[in-house]
This record gives sequence, structure tokens and C-alpha cells, in this order.
Amino acid sequence: MNNRENPILYIVIPCYNEQEVLPITAPLFLKKLQDLTAAGKISPDSRVLFVNDGSKDRTWQIICDLATADPHYIGISQSRNRGHQNAVLAGLMEAKDRCDITISIDCDGQDDINAMDAMVDAYRDGCEIVYGVRSSRATDTFFKRFTAEGFYKLLNAMGAEVVFNHADYRLMSARALQEFAKFREVNLYLRGMVPLVGFKSTCVAYERHERIAGESHYPLSKMLSLAFDGITSLSVKPIRLITGFGCFVAVVSFLGVIWAIVQAILGHTVSGWASTTSIICFVSGVQLICLGVIGEYIGKIYMETKARPRYIISERTWDRKEKD
Ligand code: UDP
Ligand code: MG
Repeated sequence: MNNRENPILYIVIPCYNEQEVLPITAPLFLKKLQDLTAAGKISPDSRVLFVNDGSKDRTWQIICDLATADPHYIGISQSRNRGHQNAVLAGLMEAKDRCDITISIDCDGQDDINAMDAMVDAYRDGCEIVYGVRSSRATDTFFKRFTAEGFYKLLNAMGAEVVFNHADYRLMSARALQEFAKFREVNLYLRGMVPLVGFKSTCVAYERHERIAGESHYPLSKMLSLAFDGITSLSVKPIRLITGFGCFVAVVSFLGVIWAIVQAILGHTVSGWASTTSIICFVSGVQLICLGVIGEYIGKIYMETKARPRYIISERTWDRKEKD
């Protein structure tokens, strides 16, 4: 499917213990769908797809009630809580064969749904992926802003390429999703993986608001673990750092050995000290380098086990001819 003029849109919304906020935001999503349909930008067959992530409260009940009340609401439920990233992936994979485009968004009303118009326009202009990027963090506390921006900088420094200030609010076409489905890894870090798919993409800026109701499921501890997962599942740079550090220690050790020998020749030491110190310096440097080299191979094995697609083709001349 590749319908640019009148695409079927699925809005994919992960929900975990959201009984307070869902009854407020669900009608807003439906309204957006209706507005976009009325404007002739999307097909009337578009849907709001909720993904219940093993909620322990009434969330799934609310989703079922919504689905009964209006056929534009549909829902799937995960058998247990698997976390935000898995919930989004489940929704996208479920949607990819039924629609032309998906937009993933949180259900708490923090992301401005009006940015969807610009996202759909960008798709109609030929983009396959459109990243929602926060224009400012004025509504965040200083602490959240500081930690979140530090998080993007750390990720990029560690070799995981992510779009700055983009969370998981994005449009992906069914075509991009078909290719994305070939990424078979289990450790998910969507915002680092989606850019690997490539294709024409762009960014749309939006304001992020406060949560409408309920509370965040992302405390600092979860954010740190997400950052750690992001780095370790996308890059083997930390292993390179160990090798580099090993070389540095080896150089310092070499200087240490010279220093110990000079001290021994000058007679400033007790007997046996210089040889012991030299051995310690030498061995610690060699050990770190060896660890780094072993790590390098483990890193390669790690990347191989992901079995990612080795190439993704965006166009073929013969397809082009058929279209003309
Ligand atoms: N969420 C989920 N599973 C989880 C945690 C969160 O599906 O285990 C959903 C949640 O319902 C919300 C989105 O992920 O729609 C973002 O979570 P939250 O708003 O708590 O995070 P924050 O915006 O504070 O980073
Ligand atoms: Mg939120």
C-alpha cells in the first residue's frame, strides 16, 4: 500500500495504567481524526489504535467501552506489562498491514496533537518518516530538562545517533514499517533504530505540555535505564573506550617502569621494589588492552546476533517505469 493522496492513518497509543487520563484524551484523538478526514487529508477508514500494556487498573475496560461506542476506536492488549517501547512496537506491527501511515503518540496529552496535520502534510510531500521534535522545554522542571538534554548528548557521544529532542511521537509510513519489521532485535530502543531505516524524512516541531492527569511512569531510574539500553543496544563504543583506556594505561605503565628502574639505579629503593612495580604496571596495561580486544569481538558477535537487514532499497528504476 502506498496511498499518498488519501492515506489510511492509524494513531498508535500505548497505555499503561491510564484510567484517569484516557477518558479525557481519547475524544481528542478521535476529534483530530475527524478533522483530518473532513479536511480531505486522510481516509475515513482511519483508526485510533490503543495498546494496553498489561495495565493493572481499568484501562483495558475503558478501551473496550470506547471500541463499542465508536468503530473508529480499536484496541489490542499485551498479555503483561512489557514497557513503553514494546507497546509502541506491538501497535505499529499490528497496524502496518492495515494502514498507509501510523502516528505513535503517548496517551497523556503531553504531545501536541495539532502537530499531526504537519506530519500528514510531510507524508503527502513524499516523506516516509516524520519526527516530532520538541520546540522548547519550558513546561519541564529544570531537573527534567537538564537530565533529558544530557541524555541526548550522552547518547550521541556514545555513538547512538538519535534525533535531538525527539521522543516517540512520529509518523511512519507502512512502507517504512515493512522495512522496520526486518529489525529483529529484542532490546528495543525505537528512537535509535528508526533512523537506521533511512528513506526521506523530516522533523516537525511541537510544544510539549504538562500531563493532563495521572502521573509519569518514567522516573529518573527508568530514564537512566533507557539511556543505558539505548547506548548498549545501538553502539559498541563503550568497548572501544576500554581499548583506548588500556592503551593509555599501557603508556603510563611504560613511564612507570622507566621511573622505577631509574629509582633503583639511583639506589633510592629497597631491593625487589623496582621489579615488582614494573611487573604491576606492565601487567595492568596489557590486561586492559586484552580486555578491550576481547570486547571488540564480543561487540561484533553482539551486532551479528541482531541479524539486522544489511541493505534497504528505496527505489528501483523498473518500478518507476511501471508507475508512469
Ligand atoms: N507506558 C506504557 N508502558 C509502560 C510505561 C508507560 O505503555 O510500562 C505508556 C504510558 O501509558 C504513556 C507513555 O507510555 O502513554 C509515556 O509514559 P509517561 O507519560 O508515563 O512517560 P513521560 O511522558 O513522563 O516520559
Ligand atoms: Mg508522558
